Amino acid sequence: MVKKEIVSAVNLKKEIEEAKAELVSRNKKLKLSVKTEAKKKVDKKKAEAKKKVDKKKAEAKKKEEAKKKAEEAKKKEEEAKKKEEEAKRTYEEELEEQLTEDEIKNFAIDKTDMDKLVNRVTEMIASYATNGILQNILWRKLKLSSRDGSRLALKLEKLGNITREKILENGRWTYLLLIKKIPISTISIENAPCLVCPVEGKCSTDGEISPKTCVYIEDWVLTELKTKKSHETN
Ligand code: SF4
Repeated sequence: MVKKEIVSAVNLKKEIEEAKAELVSRNKKLKLSVKTEAKKKVDKKKAEAKKKVDKKKAEAKKKEEAKKKAEEAKKKEEEAKKKEEEAKRTYEEELEEQLTEDEIKNFAIDKTDMDKLVNRVTEMIASYATNGILQNILWRKLKLSSRDGSRLALKLEKLGNITREKILENGRWTYLLLIKKIPISTISIENAPCLVCPVEGKCSTDGEISPKTCVYIEDWVLTELKTKKSHETN
């Protein structure tokens, strides 16, 4: 009877150990399964994120290529336009072909004192020194038509007062007018008192009668300066 009880106890212990082993094994499998599942989820998310990044990169590349193509097309268009413009002849070039040198030099505007106009325009161009001035701006200031302005610029160039530089401005050919030589204006000395002075023969810089002490000269210089200033402000 005692022997039978011992056998049962041994069996029970064996069954418990087997059950424990089974439990441990199941736990391990479960842990492994959870780990694998979690890893799969992480991998899936990573793959999706990578896919999104790749997609964005591909889109950015596409955009960049499209932008580059558009820029190249624009550049080509601008170059073609520039070549087309360069090939165009200016109105002044046509005039130079049509008119003789004398016709250009003798150009005159109706009811206009051309000597005065030439001096005035030359002085205006001179005031822009080495920067020069665009001819269309100058003609606007002088209220001259572009027809008269272009002829006047050619005349000034032929007289040797200015040089003209052909430049492309806002997609159109025009000329930059630059001073070459300022003409001596007789207007500035036509009222000089010396021209009608009765003692001009006795006047010298170191003599008793001298421009250094002459009141007429002083008055004349002051008047000229005032006139010049009032012209400048107008
Ligand atoms: S500087 Fe006077 S004094 Fe001499 S010539 Fe002229 S106006 Fe006459």
